[in-house]
Amino acid sequence: MDLGTTPGVSSSLYAPVTSGPPGLPPILCYHKVEPRLELGVTRLSPRRFTRQIERLARAGWRTLSLDEVLACARGERVVGSRDIAITFDDGYRGLREYAFPVLEAHGFGGICSVITDYAGKLNRWDVAYGGRRFAHLAWRDMHRWQGKGIEFISHTATHRRLTWLDDGEVSIELARSARAMRDMLGVNRHVISYPYGAHTARELGLASSEGYVAGLSLAGRWRGDPMAITRRPVYLWAPPTPGVGLLAPIEWLGAVGANRCAVGTSLWQALRGKRTAVGSYVEELAG
Ligand SMILES: [Zn+2]
Repeated sequence: MDLGTTPGVSSSLYAPVTSGPPGLPPILCYHKVEPRLELGVTRLSPRRFTRQIERLARAGWRTLSLDEVLACARGERVVGSRDIAITFDDGYRGLREYAFPVLEAHGFGGICSVITDYAGKLNRWDVAYGGRRFAHLAWRDMHRWQGKGIEFISHTATHRRLTWLDDGEVSIELARSARAMRDMLGVNRHVISYPYGAHTARELGLASSEGYVAGLSLAGRWRGDPMAITRRPVYLWAPPTPGVGLLAPIEWLGAVGANRCAVGTSLWQALRGKRTAVGSYVEELAG
């Protein structure tokens, strides 16, 4: 049987393997889905988010699980023509009301990264653009959604830019976060989403040595390393079908620019001069 001509089956599923990195599905990266306004580009209103998901569902896209995404990244799974993955960074509480139920209603799954020290707390790690604070999902929220198609991964312990920390601090961020994910959610296969997508070869190596099997980055060129899986951030200016429509190349350029701007947030954190959670942890270990 010539599978390539089977009605309803995309021939791309059976495309011959060529050289170059394995195929990666489009992986969308959302942040806040909130009705409350803020000065920033990462927030989407619940209405816009719902419309985007509706459009993707209508167009026949299906969401991949984390396992499926990793299998694609390792070259063990061929990407289907309507495969997509939906991820959320930072684990905001608004997702509980405005995003996860929408995915569930459309039979979609999602992958959400969590800043483990801030579970159930306000986002004091971030600059409050416009003076507003947002709460993060509590562990009990995550428990509830774990059974309903949402998978949780690590976004470090305190969301510091790993590339600006020394080796020891990076390892502590990674180890501490992995421990919380294991203790609080029973997660044993560790995947990291790098804060701000920032990483170099050093962070990939440190994550591997801390037992992480994969890493998610933001906009960038996919080079075939499962420790640096690229995603398509969905920002304020996203078209109605984000990440996969005709405007995807323009969105990508915008995302690269926005990621550069996020350096401001990291600088603010670095200059704050307050005793950090990581600092306390080092003292805790020493003591
Ligand atoms: Zn983040």
